[in-house]
Amino acid sequence: MTIMARFSSKRILVSGGAGFLGSHLCDRLIAQGHEVLCLDNFFTGSKDNVTHLLNHPKFELIRHDVVEPIRIEADEIYNLACPASPVHYQYNPIATIKTSVMGALNLLGAAKRSRAKIFQASTSEVYGDPKIHPQTEKYWGHVNPVGIRSCYDEGKRCAETLFFDYHRQHKMRIKVARIFNTYGPRMHPHDGRVVSNFIVQALKNEPITVYGEGKQTRSFCYADDLIEGFLRVMDTEDAFTGPVNLGNPNEFSILELAEKAIKLTGSKSKLVFKPLPSDDPLQRCPDISLAKSKLGWEPQVQLEDGLKRTIQYFEQLLK
Ligand code: NAD
Ligand code: UDP
Repeated sequence: MTIMARFSSKRILVSGGAGFLGSHLCDRLIAQGHEVLCLDNFFTGSKDNVTHLLNHPKFELIRHDVVEPIRIEADEIYNLACPASPVHYQYNPIATIKTSVMGALNLLGAAKRSRAKIFQASTSEVYGDPKIHPQTEKYWGHVNPVGIRSCYDEGKRCAETLFFDYHRQHKMRIKVARIFNTYGPRMHPHDGRVVSNFIVQALKNEPITVYGEGKQTRSFCYADDLIEGFLRVMDTEDAFTGPVNLGNPNEFSILELAEKAIKLTGSKSKLVFKPLPSDDPLQRCPDISLAKSKLGWEPQVQLEDGLKRTIQYFEQLLK
């Protein structure tokens, strides 16, 4: 703990803080009165996401690539740095796996030096194309180690391993959350993920690109709900490490999502079917019993409501 933290707020590092989720997290931490160090290399994130915070006396933006070591003092660290959209993480797969693995090593090193508590934004992708449904934290997953999603899945799995080894070997305070598909304002319009793609296509009355037959499922969590989950995970007692699933357990097929996007935007768009990318998981839904019992957390915003808020954001952005 730094001297400042003992007397007032905490100093909190958010790596990947200029991204979609990172910027919402920075907002919440600043609102709570903390000092926030936002670190990002702007690979998929943007200064625009945090422009409104730049003049805040407790906010600092640092351009840094987590693949490089960093010396920084903090009381808490949230590690979110990593491209999350399949299009972006497959663009430079070697950089993706380096970001997950070396980023985890560098931030765990920084946390060790400053005795900080450290949070890892892990993912439902550690379950791969799951053979059990819904997925509980006890499931070890079904992941292809040599496919086009492996740079992300295996990178995140290795990062989890590093977190647990630092915990066992150095008694560090770690928190690992496995995030399921999350959407909301500040997703990049060309992000490539399904919610932003469908909304942007629907608003422009362009064809909605459904991959495969659209029967695959996902469970969509609204960003505000997820960030509340992050804060509760970080606040758990030291003995609690996770991994803990964070996501909305209501499951929808991709076709159902497309229909909702068209309905809620009043769009004239028609569906077009494109090939299903390889290793695309068939179904995904979190079992959130652990989050409910341990954190008293469950999502409050259901899909149609969250989509309406996200549509409003993209309507403004595309004006
Ligand atoms: P995002 O792409 O908007 O955010 C990632 C941020 O990390 C960006 O600002 C990017 O510029 C930054 N970044 C990438 N590589 C970096 C590097 N080498 N050094 C420093 N910064 C780097 O995606 P997001 O949806 O906000 O995801 C945030 C985190 O949550 C990611 O770690 C992602 O894997 C995880 N996650 C997100 C979801 C989701 O549905 N949104 C699901 C599972 C896991
Ligand atoms: N998808 C789709 N059309 C798109 C983008 C994605 O049908 O324009 C599908 C994709 O094949 C996957 C699901 O939507 O089955 C979720 O994709 P996303 O990239 O959002 O995240 P994933 O959960 O696959 O990492």
